[in-house]
Amino acid sequence: MYTRWNTYSSYLKGKYGEAVYRIGVDAGFSCPNRDKTRHGGCAFCDGTGSIAVYQRSSESSFRRTACYDSTVADTILPRLLSIKEQIERGREFLSRRYKARLFSLSFQSWTNTYDSVENLKRIYDDALSIMPFKELLISTRPDCVEEDVLSLLESYITSDRDVWVEFGLQSADDNTLRSINRGHTLQEYMDAVRRAHAHNLKVATHVILGLPGEGREHFIATAEAVNESGADAVKIHNLHITGGTALSDDYLSGLLTVMSEERTLESTELFLRHLDSEIIIERLISETPYHRLLAPRVFPDKSKFLRHLEERMERNGTRQGDLA
Ligand code: SF4
Repeated sequence: MYTRWNTYSSYLKGKYGEAVYRIGVDAGFSCPNRDKTRHGGCAFCDGTGSIAVYQRSSESSFRRTACYDSTVADTILPRLLSIKEQIERGREFLSRRYKARLFSLSFQSWTNTYDSVENLKRIYDDALSIMPFKELLISTRPDCVEEDVLSLLESYITSDRDVWVEFGLQSADDNTLRSINRGHTLQEYMDAVRRAHAHNLKVATHVILGLPGEGREHFIATAEAVNESGADAVKIHNLHITGGTALSDDYLSGLLTVMSEERTLESTELFLRHLDSEIIIERLISETPYHRLLAPRVFPDKSKFLRHLEERMERNGTRQGDLA
């Protein structure tokens, strides 16, 4: 058990009395930052939409140029059937592998609020009727949560179920956000978190350490922005370069490097020290399938990295929030 940061597993055990396992689904959404009205998506995005490991058997969701109109009504039935299959596959895998008994449902691929409210309601209603879930988690963008969508999400909160929205922020620096083509500003993120909280939703924020041109002062500024936003949880990723992305072109041209394990440990420790100690840490490292990963190729696996981080912080006498 890790003691230097506020772990997600402790939070879940404290709240529900035992571990809760996420079933992640790809519900066939697209992304406003990749579709016809914008250009190419985020510089680090390879179009796979972060599908869960056990849903990746054939990489069938690989859609680098995905750009379909998800408001077309007749796409919804196959989507509902696919979601049902994915939930059943996830439950079977997690029960067999971990003896899981409690589950949360995570709409994690692409932008999971990018559709009409009517379609969103059908999709969420249908998925939540399949089995009981302790938490509903919706990954989306700060510029894709209108009031009617937030009200819909709020309607799924019960005495027995929390609803979370996960916002990608990645960096608090607007210049960086522009350079990686995020398509939103820090202010839009701040505003989205405030509006989500006003609807009683919990908020997790995704950040990336090691984006082009960023260093210690950027990591500190991003931690401080997350504190200021009042986000309930954070997912930290070290920059991964995957094939076919805008960043992969820069990497292959020698314009960009990625952090070694040592620099990642140092940066993660720094970020954690400046992050409010109450914020739950849901993730500390990226996990990209090796066959899609261009860099870093030499890096320890997740459990080794977490052990190294815990040992380092213990050695240094540091912990989450001690500089916040
Ligand atoms: S918001 Fe997500 S899905 Fe959309 S382009 Fe960026 S990383 Fe890709």
